[in-house]
Amino acid sequence: MVETTPSAALQSGASQPELRLDNSYAQLPDRFFARCRPAPASAPTLIRFNEPLADELGLDLRGYDETGLAALFSGQALPEGVEPVAMAYAGHQFGNFVPQLGDGRALLLGEVTDRQGVRRDIQLKGAGRTPFSRHGDGLAPLGPVLREHLVSEAMHALGVPTTRSLAVVLTGDDAFRERPVPAAVLTRVARSHVRVGTFEYFAVRGDHEGLRLLADYVIDRHYPHLRSASNPCLALLEQVCDRQAALVAQWLSLGFIHGVMNTDNLSIAGETLDYGPCAFMDAYNPRTVFSFVDQTGRYAYENQPAMAQWGLARFAESLLPLLADDEERAVSEAQAVLEGFMPAYRAYWLRAMRAKLGLCRECDGDDALVDDLLEIMSRGRADFTLFFRHLCDAAESTGADDGLRSLLQAPEALDDWLARWRRRLEAESGPGRAIAERMRVVNPAVIPRTHAIENAIRDAEDRGDFAAFHRLADALARPFDAPPEEADYARPPQPHERVPQTFCGT
Ligand code: AMP
Ligand code: MG
Repeated sequence: MVETTPSAALQSGASQPELRLDNSYAQLPDRFFARCRPAPASAPTLIRFNEPLADELGLDLRGYDETGLAALFSGQALPEGVEPVAMAYAGHQFGNFVPQLGDGRALLLGEVTDRQGVRRDIQLKGAGRTPFSRHGDGLAPLGPVLREHLVSEAMHALGVPTTRSLAVVLTGDDAFRERPVPAAVLTRVARSHVRVGTFEYFAVRGDHEGLRLLADYVIDRHYPHLRSASNPCLALLEQVCDRQAALVAQWLSLGFIHGVMNTDNLSIAGETLDYGPCAFMDAYNPRTVFSFVDQTGRYAYENQPAMAQWGLARFAESLLPLLADDEERAVSEAQAVLEGFMPAYRAYWLRAMRAKLGLCRECDGDDALVDDLLEIMSRGRADFTLFFRHLCDAAESTGADDGLRSLLQAPEALDDWLARWRRRLEAESGPGRAIAERMRVVNPAVIPRTHAIENAIRDAEDRGDFAAFHRLADALARPFDAPPEEADYARPPQPHERVPQTFCGT
């Protein structure tokens, strides 16, 4: 399915590159971005090209062979008419406001309209310095690029709204971190690269005209149905809050920890954005933090809903001048929306957790059933993903109970819970096999486990060997299938393989 070499379809046809890109964002006033050219790359090499995504985008890449794709997706050969821009934005980083961040190592090439009619950004991440680079080199080391490719594409396969990765290209040059490491460019595809931080950028400058233009742009592009609302900007706040509540509920239902939920990483389109020190939990512990830079645990697994709400409050503050002429009224309307966040989140989360337990109907006591199971899993240090996958088997047969128990350090508490769950399943229609089947399409067997990612990165960085990376990427495209040859990707790390901390490595 996912191929590493371009198919014949890509190679046939015209010899001149003909990729057509629009750029609606670059039509906004100059202060929204900086025009900028990608840095030269000495020997661009295509590592992976996401052909299913290219197809979804309806890209016409006839005329590009592998070398051509490497040149295109490292920014060396830009299609005619493409004028890349680095977007301006601000952001709260770990709670501290930075009035100017912006794309310091990313360039928006332009937009395409995909086969569904949705406008999608094409961005090169790691394409060199921009006016927003500050002290950074504008480069992306290979390791973090491979991680972003693996995790973002896995999230997509898991059904989570996310930015995508179209291509990974080695530039042939080194980036200097603690040591020289190969530099790479990731081609990121997003419904939007507008973030909460983009609104903060104009708000902090008192640029109400800029704010208004940005809000209009976002509504027209992403939420056109809100145009007819009585207060479109308030409706925008509601929509963005709702999308974020749904998104974070999905993260928690899969054991995902974003790691850097700063407001510059909070997408206005409700996609998971910016994969830095992110990770999926192995053993379930709601207080888990991976990121080395997150010393206080601000973005711990269980804090993510509260941190999303905190970021959305910054969005609401930025929007205030647009919400009402009277400031007091603007504040009270915004507050009412923000207060709806937790109930909305909890409803999305409960819906997702019900599905994980095979429950279609809604019964009183379901939330306690879920909470009690999580308590048992936490005390027993159960592997989050494996436990829910085994639970699918237990819906079909009590023969699977021992397998489940073996995943817990203190299995005694599980017996009562299993009896309760099975009584609850009686309220569901259909045989155990059908319940198990529907559980298996929401409880993945394969997730991008940190130790597997790190192994793939090590092979690639140290030996230029991408076999493990490609194998893992292929397995992650089918997370619910669990074919026997991929059993190794389903298992938790052995004690010596465990990765206790992650680094953004930017
Ligand atoms: P991030 O941690 O990726 O969300 O980035 C936070 C800010 O730092 C953004 O403004 C980035 O563009 C900038 N940044 C991160 N890494 C680099 C780099 N290597 N060179 C220049 N800017 C960077
Ligand atoms: Mg960011």
